[in-house]
Amino acid sequence: MLPPQSKNNKKCPNCGNEMKVREKKSGEEAGKKFLVCIKYPECWTIEPYVEPKWF
Ligand SMILES: [Zn+2]
Repeated sequence: MLPPQSKNNKKCPNCGNEMKVREKKSGEEAGKKFLVCIKYPECWTIEPYVEPKWF
């Protein structure tokens, strides 16, 4: 089976632009995914990334 689309369609609640998935590269939470606004660093919206679920 193919993995779910890696693209997410979540929008930034602050400016309405897309959010993109990034992964922490270092530190205690290395490998942990989170969403940042594509307007970063203009817009600092960061949200936790929720893995898509299979139904
Ligand atoms: Zn934004």
